[in-house]
Amino acid sequence: MIDRRKILKGAAGASALSACGALGVAAQAGSAAAQPAARSYLRIATEEACSFPEIVSEMGLVAARGGTNLDMELITAIYGPNAPEVGRRAVAPLLDVGAGRIAEMDRAGVDMHVLSLTSPGVQMFAPDRAVALAELANDKLAAAIRRYPTRFAGLAAVAPQNPQAAAREMERAINRLRLNGFIINSHTDNRYLDEEFFWPILEAAEALDRPIYIHPRNPSDGMAGPFRGVSLPGYAFGMETSVHALRLLFRGVFDRFPKLKIVLGHMGEGIHFWQARLDRRYLSSSYASGYVRLSLMPSEYLKRNFAITTSGAESHEALEYSIKTLGADHVMWAIDYPYEPTQSAVDFLESAPITPEQKAMIFEQNAERVFHIERPAPRRRR
Ligand code: MN
Repeated sequence: MIDRRKILKGAAGASALSACGALGVAAQAGSAAAQPAARSYLRIATEEACSFPEIVSEMGLVAARGGTNLDMELITAIYGPNAPEVGRRAVAPLLDVGAGRIAEMDRAGVDMHVLSLTSPGVQMFAPDRAVALAELANDKLAAAIRRYPTRFAGLAAVAPQNPQAAAREMERAINRLRLNGFIINSHTDNRYLDEEFFWPILEAAEALDRPIYIHPRNPSDGMAGPFRGVSLPGYAFGMETSVHALRLLFRGVFDRFPKLKIVLGHMGEGIHFWQARLDRRYLSSSYASGYVRLSLMPSEYLKRNFAITTSGAESHEALEYSIKTLGADHVMWAIDYPYEPTQSAVDFLESAPITPEQKAMIFEQNAERVFHIERPAPRRRR
C-alpha cells in the first residue's frame, strides 16, 4: 500500500499536493515562479505529437481522395478541403517544433518532449511515398532535436508498408540521426505487426535495442462498426491498440523476439487490467483453436516486454494499480501534447500519492533508460 502520510512528510510531495489541491491550476501557475520548489528530477514527456508541412499536405491529398472508414472521417475533419475550423486548428501546434512549443513547456515546467510524428504517421500513404516521407520526417525531427538538444528527443516514423525499407530506416534513425526509438500507429491497412510480413521491423527494433511505441489510431475496418458513436479517442483507440499488443503477445512474437520492448500510452491502454483474466484463460485454453503455446504466462510478458505511459489518462487510481501490477519502473509520464493540456498532466503526477522515488522514476529515470536519452538536460527546477 502507498503510505500517504509518508509522502506528505516529504517537502516535495507536500508542496506539490498543496499547489495542486484546492488552490487549483490557475493558482499554481501564478505561484510557480514565486515559490520555486526543489525538484530533483526532470519532467520528460514521452508521447508528444508533431508534424511537418510535407506530411500535412500529403494528409490533405489522402483526405481529398475521400473514404468512409473511421480514419478517413477523422483525417478529413482535420486535413480535408472542407475541414471545420476546430479540426484545422489542431495542425498549427503540431507544426511548431521550436519557440512556441518550448514556451508552452516552460509555462508548466516541462523539461523535455519526446517528439513523434502524429498519428497515423505515414501509414495511410502509398508504400513508396510512405518510405520517402518517413525519411523526410525523421530528418526534420533530428534537425529540431539538434536545435534544442536539451529540450527534445524523438521517436522515428516508420513505414510498415515496406518492412525491409522500414528496418533500414530504423537503423539510420538510431545510428545516424541519434533518435530514441520508433512509433507505429497501430494497424497498417488493417494488418498487425504479429504477421511475419512485418518481422523485419521487430527484428530491427530488438537488434537496435530501442522500443516501439504502439500509438493508437482508429479501429481497423474489421472492428470499426460497433465503435461508431462510442468515444473514439477515449475508448476505441485504446481497444484497437491493446488488441494489437495482445496479438503480439498471444501469437508468440515475444518468444521469437524476447528482447523486443513495446511502449503503450494512455495508461497501457488498460491492457494490464486484464492480466489475471488473461493468465487464467490462457491456462485453460485449448491449444487446438489457433492458440500458440507460449513459454511465459501472459502477465510475465507484460512485465518483461512492455512499458506504459500516462498520456491523457489522469487517474491516480489507475496509476496506483499500474505501479502495483507492473512496477514503478514500467511507467513513464506523458502529456499527449497538443491533444491534451500540459498543466493538468504536470499537476496529475505532481499530486499523485506516490513516493518521491517513484515520482522521479516516472517523470524522468524510466524515460531516460527506455529511450536511451543521454544528452545533457538542463537542471532547471521549479
Ligand atoms: Mn498521442
